[in-house]
Amino acid sequence: MGALHRGHGQLIKAAQGIGIVQPSSVLVSVFVNPLQFGPAEDFDSYPRDLDADCEVASAAGASALWAPSVDQVFPGGASAQFRIQVPSQLQAHLCGASRPGHFDGVATVVARLLALVRPEVLVLGEKDWQQLIILRHLVADLGLPVKVRGVATVRDDDCMACSSRNRHLTAKQRQQALILPQLLARAARDVEDGKSLDLARLRSAWERSDLKVEYVETVDPFDLQPLQVGRKLSLLAAAVRCGETRLIDHTFLMSRKPIVAIDGPAGAGKSTVTRAFAERLGLLYLDTGAMYRAVTWLIQKQEVDPHDPEAVNKNLENLKLELDLSQSGSQRVRINGHDVTEEIRSPDVTTSVSAVAAHGCVRNALTAQQQRMGINGGLVAEGRDIGTAVFPDADLKVFLTASPAERARRRALDLQNRGFPVPDLVELEAQIEERDRSDSTREFAPLLQADDAVELISDGMSIDQVIETLIDLFRQQVPEEVWPKPSI
Ligand code: C5P
Repeated sequence: MGALHRGHGQLIKAAQGIGIVQPSSVLVSVFVNPLQFGPAEDFDSYPRDLDADCEVASAAGASALWAPSVDQVFPGGASAQFRIQVPSQLQAHLCGASRPGHFDGVATVVARLLALVRPEVLVLGEKDWQQLIILRHLVADLGLPVKVRGVATVRDDDCMACSSRNRHLTAKQRQQALILPQLLARAARDVEDGKSLDLARLRSAWERSDLKVEYVETVDPFDLQPLQVGRKLSLLAAAVRCGETRLIDHTFLMSRKPIVAIDGPAGAGKSTVTRAFAERLGLLYLDTGAMYRAVTWLIQKQEVDPHDPEAVNKNLENLKLELDLSQSGSQRVRINGHDVTEEIRSPDVTTSVSAVAAHGCVRNALTAQQQRMGINGGLVAEGRDIGTAVFPDADLKVFLTASPAERARRRALDLQNRGFPVPDLVELEAQIEERDRSDSTREFAPLLQADDAVELISDGMSIDQVIETLIDLFRQQVPEEVWPKPSI
């Protein structure tokens, strides 16, 4: 809506690196939308300064700025405009509750804008979080051909979130308003440290500083429904009035960093894409299959029958399995002091690994170790039971699969690259189907798609497309504010 500031500048900069076609053109729209203001709201006094906007947009690298009139956007007049109705559950809380009709007006003008411009990506600030979520739903529900990307809230040095309305604040009011972001940040730190959150105390602290609190609520960041603060990521959001100026701000509450679970059958290409995904997002990468393979290598070395649970169990006593979790490169795997990184990929190990991985004792030992490795989060783990047994509360779960024929083709390439003999494709496909069967029918932690996992079928997709899709899914579950893109 114009009155551009550093926050908008950041959106414009972020937009330049997002498009598939590079370099991408970034169009900035400036339009104070009459449909999203209530009768008693500040449409007339909303700050407008088009010359300054052009300067900010151009300095940030925008290709063009479009500032249409109301008639251009709504040729029949704003009041005769066909309206989009936002589902009531998405606007029952936060700003939706106190500004009836506001989000219908936002959704309508954005749908109109998208139809007029037909951009590849729509870039929005996370500052107006409810708006971002509602517009994501709009795009998904109507199947609009555009990607939605959020960009973390930009703050001034004193911690105030950049906002066009801040320019209405006097110097004294600005000082007074600082307690809004300060207490939100403190609440986030407290929750991280395991302390509880007291919304009534927050409200009264703000009221004591002469801020009139419109709401302070915790909700699920994605469905915007009320949520008790717990292990899951939650949004603490507030709107206050400082004098006549309405300010909104929020923070995310979490007790651990994000975890991503990628499960799926053999040969779906999980390792390749998960490693690249981890690197792109600065997450640690945990290949749990390598752990089951290492135990299988040990069992074979000891000449133990892989189907004999008691004999296998004996070898788990004093087991020392080491994996260096890293964001890139190949993950070294050591078992009882032996570096087995390469050997565990041999067809011999592959043939017996499902039998070894099916034993309850093996699963218990390795699941416990994996959970310890993920205790602080900040990691992506791939395997068969990550979303169902190891990290059932992962922030994003993906079930990555492909047809058996496609997986056999990929496995053949992998074996060839590693210098192992390559059986013919029919035989490979049969082996893969046998491993699927054995992994999915075992008694303990079988290979299953978790109810809340997103299925991604990668037939016909390039590796880059799969990685991009994973990043997109991650960004739909983890705000940039919570897990910023690493600066590499
Ligand atoms: O992914 P990869 O092919 O290296 O996994 C090897 C085997 O390890 C799988 O076929 C499966 O039997 C077992 N596994 C498992 N649970 C995991 C990861 C792998 O049972 N989380």
